[in-house]
Amino acid sequence: MTVDNQPSPAVELPYPDGDFYGFQDLLSESEQAKLLEVRAWLDEHVRPTAVENWVEASFPRDLVPKIADLDLISPVRRCGYSNVFAGLIHVEFTRADASFATFMGVHDGLFTGSLEVLASEEQKKEWLPDVYAFKKIGAFGLTEPLGGSDVAGGLRTTARREGDTWILNGAKRWIGNATWSDWVVIFAKDESDGQVKAFLVDTTLPGYKAEKIENKISLRTVQNADITLTDVRVPESHRLQNCSSFKDVNKVLKVTRLGVAWQAVGLQQAAFDVARRYAVERQQFGRPLASFQMVQDQLVQMLGNLTASTAMMVRLSELEDKGLAKDEQSALAKAYTTARMRETVALGRSLLGGNGIVADYEMAKIFSDAESIYSYEGTYEINTLVTGRAITGVSAIV
Ligand SMILES: Cc1cc2nc3c(=O)[nH]c(=O)nc-3n(C[C@H](O)[C@H](O)[C@H](O)COP(=O)(O)OP(=O)(O)OC[C@H]3O[C@@H](n4cnc5c(N)ncnc54)[C@H](O)[C@@H]3O)c2cc1C
Repeated sequence: MTVDNQPSPAVELPYPDGDFYGFQDLLSESEQAKLLEVRAWLDEHVRPTAVENWVEASFPRDLVPKIADLDLISPVRRCGYSNVFAGLIHVEFTRADASFATFMGVHDGLFTGSLEVLASEEQKKEWLPDVYAFKKIGAFGLTEPLGGSDVAGGLRTTARREGDTWILNGAKRWIGNATWSDWVVIFAKDESDGQVKAFLVDTTLPGYKAEKIENKISLRTVQNADITLTDVRVPESHRLQNCSSFKDVNKVLKVTRLGVAWQAVGLQQAAFDVARRYAVERQQFGRPLASFQMVQDQLVQMLGNLTASTAMMVRLSELEDKGLAKDEQSALAKAYTTARMRETVALGRSLLGGNGIVADYEMAKIFSDAESIYSYEGTYEINTLVTGRAITGVSAIV
């Protein structure tokens, strides 16, 4: 890498953390201290190699044991932090690197969340200690080649019970971490009752195959897999005992959708960080870009989007802390913040001119990564329609 893309220590900026309305002050003192610790850890370990890993489409597995030292997995259920804190941690991860944030979102939110919500107490006791310690890495296998937005009713992967063994057959697509994870939760339709069941599948089992999806233009560092399951035999003891229909899967997705909406805040923060510094440091016509009114307008539009998105997420997370957040509120948040994110990263990309399309300057990576966040965990359209159904009583989804 020939270009120094790290912030220059020479120029001091006002509002250095970009937190224009002081949202971090809503956290307790210990949460604020933890947030700063996490930010420093990400600055030291993740950000310096994030562009290189993205360009090479290679995941930094050496960081996995180190991240356990942060003692941050399952921040709300296990550690007792607030949802606002958990959200601001998503922001910090995504600000450092959206791919690394997605690795965490899959291992912690989707995979660990599935075990916490859908496994029996006995299963949790057996599996969760290694998962919390990052000794076992997990993935979440719901989407299929032919089942995306309609996956709730359209699962084609099947599970057939023979005595105390389940036999899984089918295919999954897009499954993050699954080329190298130890375990993956596979959702399959029970042939006997047609309902969705969940299974903890050991990725070394015969009949399990995961192939990396190549040539992505977004979240290149995340290893997404096409999985095929051919007569994979899973013991009944590995069926998550509290998953008996898609309604149960939704209990996991409601919380992870909140996390993805927070990621959209984090990516806007990243775009704002990079664009603002560039505007202050880059000179044209003998003056910094920041001295031109139209450039300031673009930066302020970015800040407005970022701040409005953060405010929405803070309120939703407070509702979640009280157990009051509804599915449609998470859906609106995911749709709204990701739409603002797309505007914000496009403004940032334009503000860097030609350098905005080169990964070395970070902005091209940020711009491209927004596309995945816009589409995963329910696309913009589906989340809009979930919200539309809630406010009209009429479904426009099918
Ligand atoms: C980088 C990445 C990582 C992912 N990680 C995982 C993972 O770890 N595990 C996992 O299970 N899945 C994962 N996914 C899958 C993701 O959740 C799906 O891509 C998403 O749900 C959309 O499904 P689809 O891609 O099949 O699009 P489709 O459902 O085929 O949709 C295509 C387009 O049609 C629109 N559309 C569909 N139906 C309607 C409708 N009724 N009304 C209006 N518009 C509609 C959609 O909004 C979209 O614009 C990941 C995806 C990506 C890109």
